[in-house]
Amino acid sequence: MTTASKPGAKRRPAASKPARKPPAAPARRLVSLVVPVLNEQDAIDAFFERVGAVLAPLASEILFEYVLVDDGSTDATVPAIRRWMAKGVPIRLVVLSRNFGKEAALAAGLKHALGTAAIPMDVDLQDPPEAVPEMIAKWRAGAMVVNARRVDRSEDSRAKRLSSAAYYRVFNLLAEYPIPENVGDFRLIDRQVIDILNRFTERSRFNKDLFNWVGFDTAEVALERPARAAGRSKWSFWKLWKFGLDGIFAASTLPLRIWSYIGAAVAALGFLYALYIFVTTLAFGAETPGYASTAILILFFGGLNMLSVGILGEYIGRIYREVQDRPLFLVRDVEETRGN
Ligand code: UDP
Ligand code: MG
Repeated sequence: MTTASKPGAKRRPAASKPARKPPAAPARRLVSLVVPVLNEQDAIDAFFERVGAVLAPLASEILFEYVLVDDGSTDATVPAIRRWMAKGVPIRLVVLSRNFGKEAALAAGLKHALGTAAIPMDVDLQDPPEAVPEMIAKWRAGAMVVNARRVDRSEDSRAKRLSSAAYYRVFNLLAEYPIPENVGDFRLIDRQVIDILNRFTERSRFNKDLFNWVGFDTAEVALERPARAAGRSKWSFWKLWKFGLDGIFAASTLPLRIWSYIGAAVAALGFLYALYIFVTTLAFGAETPGYASTAILILFFGGLNMLSVGILGEYIGRIYREVQDRPLFLVRDVEETRGN
């Protein structure tokens, strides 16, 4: 390969570069709404209509841009977004090469956000845009992160609420740094924190934990979590279960350490039992029957061993993923509203 330019290729003369326009003053602050989407063709229109209407009154102080990340949709989601781009809504559409999951899609969105703050949002309007003005006010008052806490989740099913409450409990018992309950990904994040988050390359990602782990001055707004505007939840039980485990294993090494304690306790019990057998054998002679106790011990310790090896495996699998060092997501295309 040669680096010399082709004979016919013309270099653009430096003089033809357009002069840089001075920035219009006073500049409105740019805020990016970061929205991962997977097969949401029915939710797109409602999203832009409602968010556009709710945020319009802020237009004199804040400039909004939408960063939509298509996480491998197979329906008409992308054309639906393009229709809004054609209308001139300032959108950056990041199309991933396949489905990478919401956590990775959100990471992609934050990488492509240009705002001085970003707000990750679900497209199904379960993160009500009505909370955004209050979040922005708290940000302008100095907060670096503004969490949105769901105070009313009555639209979620009872099973979902109960399992979610139980999960937060277990998570916070194990995690080194607890996460606030009922705070999802919907929050405002200042540029300084976005830049920090963009440096995190870990693959077992649990945004709720990452967003919280970084710290900084954090404020909070309260909101009710409405039902999905259109379409269905993209989370199957199995996906949620795996996601939940990912979260715990990413945020805590307690499941590893716990085996030292269990091992010590079991070894102590085993020693006492050995002593008991030793003494009774001395006192009353060897007793041949003992099938039941032997079988129980083998089963018990076999099970315990397998469990601890399984936990080791969970971490080793994650270490393997990390050392492979593959990209967290792959971008196929970035489209932008023209004149944006
Ligand atoms: N989503 C995504 N990739 C996925 C799953 C979900 O980008 O693999 C998006 C989805 O389109 C939506 C948001 O993540 O904008 C939240 O998903 P969903 O509403 O299904 O989750 P739930 O509200 O049920 O927790
Ligand atoms: Mg939802």
